[in-house]
Amino acid sequence: AGTVLARWGGDEFILMMPGQSGPHDAIRLARVMLEKLRRPFRIGEHEIKLDAHIGVAISPIDGSTASALTHASSVATNHARNTRMAEPQFYSAELNADARLRLRLERDLRQALSAEGGDELILHYQPQFDHHGRIHAAEALLRWQHPTLGLLPPGQFIPLAEESGLIIVLGIWVIRTVCRQLRQWSEAGLQNVTIAINLASPHFLDPGLLPLLDEVTQANGIDPRQIELELTESMVMEDSDLVRNTLARIHERGFLLSIDDFGTGFSSLRHLSFLPLDTLKIDRSFIQNMLEGPRQAAVVRGIIALAKSLGLRVVAEGVETQEQASAVRHEGCDLMQGFLHARPMPAETFALRLKD
Ligand code: C2E
Ligand code: MG
Ligand code: MG
Repeated sequence: AGTVLARWGGDEFILMMPGQSGPHDAIRLARVMLEKLRRPFRIGEHEIKLDAHIGVAISPIDGSTASALTHASSVATNHARNTRMAEPQFYSAELNADARLRLRLERDLRQALSAEGGDELILHYQPQFDHHGRIHAAEALLRWQHPTLGLLPPGQFIPLAEESGLIIVLGIWVIRTVCRQLRQWSEAGLQNVTIAINLASPHFLDPGLLPLLDEVTQANGIDPRQIELELTESMVMEDSDLVRNTLARIHERGFLLSIDDFGTGFSSLRHLSFLPLDTLKIDRSFIQNMLEGPRQAAVVRGIIALAKSLGLRVVAEGVETQEQASAVRHEGCDLMQGFLHARPMPAETFALRLKD
């Protein structure tokens, strides 16, 4: 709403877009426009090629008046034209650097996911312990060994993967890798391990998810109960029949479903009552605060009681101290996952821990 496209003069146009969520939307749109503009146009029997350049100014960073913004965007556009830059230019140097880094990471991630990508993407496994200190399951956590930037945690590339649509391919890679790993472990005598996999919401809208799960579990001789899919509250909140149906069918097949970071989203308790869940993971922030006072402890107690009465297994995330461990155990939590017991570790290290 409120979008205006105007001819500014000569071969210059201005597109004004109020209400954008940030610079990344702007650069994404600008790139699509450049790509379309640079495709040859056909007029009669003539093929016409245009060279286009786009400069972007963002309010309020680059100005808060019409004249400041038009000035900033024309400086950026001139810069793009003079340097024959194929990419859109931001007025602010900071945004330019940021946009370029993201662009580069997006390309690199595409590469890492392709056949030539080699083994840049890695899964680490963080065990979940019961009260006897036995490993019950583990969560697969993605890492990216970037050729020049070093080992990147998921926070540095998952959001990018979500925005660029790479998240589906990435998730498929994780599912396949976990299943292959489970088969290797099983061949090495480590049976009945359950691995939790984080999925993003687009997966549950993807009709290919269940066939993929069926295919890879069958191909690797894996019991569906060895795979637990973690979803977040926001996905569950999307009041969509499609998502709900997908979850129901996945669950009927025997795969486990868990709700991750519980308590941080806008949880609708109504959803909890009819979703086919097996596990509830209490978000780290609750565990970290629970010893601060009786109210904080009461919240954790309440969540555990709710989960238990729904027949769910409860995992405490982010247990870092012995005091927290005793407290969650005292409240009746089933499993603990946190730095106190183990950090996420490479597959080989996890296998050694399992054997002990
Ligand atoms: P998450 O699913 O809630 O995973 C738990 C995160 O908490 C992990 O961070 C883990 O290293 C960290 N953690 C575990 N115990 C402790 C503790 O005692 N203290 C503290 N401070 N942190 C602890 P990590 O590996 O950086 O992952 C961050 C998030 O990235 C994950 O949160 C998950 O949402 C996402 N993620 C990771 N792997 C994948 C993946 O394969 N696919 C998708 N879509 N998301 C992933
Ligand atoms: Mg998780
Ligand atoms: Mg979590």
